[in-house]
Amino acid sequence: MQVFEGKSVFEGIAIGKLRIFRHEKRDVTDAQGEGFEAEKAKFIAAREKAVGILRKLCDAALQNVGSDSAEIFEMHIMMTEDLDLEDAVTENLTQGYNAAYAVEQAGFSLSQIFSSMDDAYMKARSVDILDVSGRIRDCILGVEQDAITLTEPSVLAASDFTPSEVVQLDKQKLLGFVTTFGSDNSHTAILARTMALPSVVNIGVSVSQEFDGCTVVVDGFTGKVYVDPDQKTLDAYTKKQRDLAEERERLAVLKNAESVSLDGVKTFVYCNVGKSADCDLANENGAEGIGLFRSEFLYLEASDYPSEEVQFAEYRAAVEKMQGKPVVIRTMDIGADKQAAYFQLPKEENPALGYRSVRICFDRPQIMKTQLRALYRASAYGKLSVMVPMIISADEVRWVRSVADEVKSELKKEGVAFDAEMPIGIMIETPAAAMIADELAEVADFFSVGTNDLTQYTLAIDRQNQNLEKFYNSRHKAVLRLIKRAADCIHAKGKWIGICGELARDFGLTEFFLKIGIDELSVSPPYILKLRDTVQKTDTRKVDLSHYI
Ligand code: PEP
Ligand code: MG
Repeated sequence: MQVFEGKSVFEGIAIGKLRIFRHEKRDVTDAQGEGFEAEKAKFIAAREKAVGILRKLCDAALQNVGSDSAEIFEMHIMMTEDLDLEDAVTENLTQGYNAAYAVEQAGFSLSQIFSSMDDAYMKARSVDILDVSGRIRDCILGVEQDAITLTEPSVLAASDFTPSEVVQLDKQKLLGFVTTFGSDNSHTAILARTMALPSVVNIGVSVSQEFDGCTVVVDGFTGKVYVDPDQKTLDAYTKKQRDLAEERERLAVLKNAESVSLDGVKTFVYCNVGKSADCDLANENGAEGIGLFRSEFLYLEASDYPSEEVQFAEYRAAVEKMQGKPVVIRTMDIGADKQAAYFQLPKEENPALGYRSVRICFDRPQIMKTQLRALYRASAYGKLSVMVPMIISADEVRWVRSVADEVKSELKKEGVAFDAEMPIGIMIETPAAAMIADELAEVADFFSVGTNDLTQYTLAIDRQNQNLEKFYNSRHKAVLRLIKRAADCIHAKGKWIGICGELARDFGLTEFFLKIGIDELSVSPPYILKLRDTVQKTDTRKVDLSHYI
């Protein structure tokens, strides 16, 4: 038995045959081409062909996996046609290189630029660039991309997989992935989650070819991969897999159930999403609403500020998919670990304590105005609320409200339909907001605690710093006391408070949250039913608060 360890991208257990896949090397040399014009024409023709292939992949993804995976290929089409890529290729062509070499080298250098970026999301785009440039190169060479065929249910291992390889795989036979490189932000990881495939990325070493065909166990909870497991390991995981399947079946009956404790305390179990397509998963898992729609992903995926129309279409899609259930969309939270180059934010010594989200909007009010226009327009199509992150004062909320008033009178004049009563809430992400929750409850309609940042700012521990992981304790009494204090102040003013940070899925704290009257808990799709189950098994009469705070 050999054990590897990496980063899990989906929690589950996969057991099956291991298939090792090696990408074939292309025969590309730096030989001189047939002259600039001829080689450029080859590049342009190949690029057109590549776009045609990607359109077909996009349709296949839409049919086989879902709309969010189809979006990956729409993004690949944009990258294929991107002028930065064309400029880099042209630069190589002017040096006399042949088109295939010029494209491959351009892909390598752009990919390196992405992988050296600080932001994890942008870093993960480096594999997309290689996928895109590799496709154009292959069209120039006239070779087909390597197809992966599975003959039996298998776990696939490779250095990394491109999204186009993943989407073409036979879903019936794919049990999970193991990759040597890659990040949990890569599109391969995102696809693994969408397809609910227990997978582990970045194990750091290449799985030897001699293990091809061996039995493998992928533990998507611990990130461990057991190749050729001994009988004891295999038996234990077979049992764990069976238990999980039984639990999934048992929890499925809770899809339409209410989230009420044994002693009748009611809360709502909502879902956190990154884009409208995720609302399908929220519905499939029985979410009672969307508690956090991180709108900044729209900004992160774009190469310029997303227009009002683009935003409106996305927000409208979300509320329509939720069919009258509440949807809370958070205004963009760019800054700190979420950087978009076109914002041209200055480099900072302490980005987490820096120029971020609503703070940027005070200097660039048009960002807030465009977003609020899109949100108000979408509010005509469902039950929408807007939530502002990183608030530290009542004046900040008043400013947001003044922009909202401006937007409302404009839309009214234009004769556009909108919900004039759309609630405006805020996040409690700083100790400051928790401490003045009584004042904030005078100006905000509702609240949601962002425990990821609240922990970071209360304990003075950078949530991104891996060396500090052992100190980052969201159950710290200081964090829990701040949440209780905020909840008491907010309830006293007759407003509601939810939790949308990762702490909401800490099932050991569900009874604490119910006891202090948290009105809503918002978690990622796989945790919804388990959380509802935990709520239903809780008796708040037996909860001793002093145990927590
Ligand atoms: C949080 O801080 O807990 C939160 C939900 O926001 P994000 O993780 O996006 O910063
Ligand atoms: Mg936050």
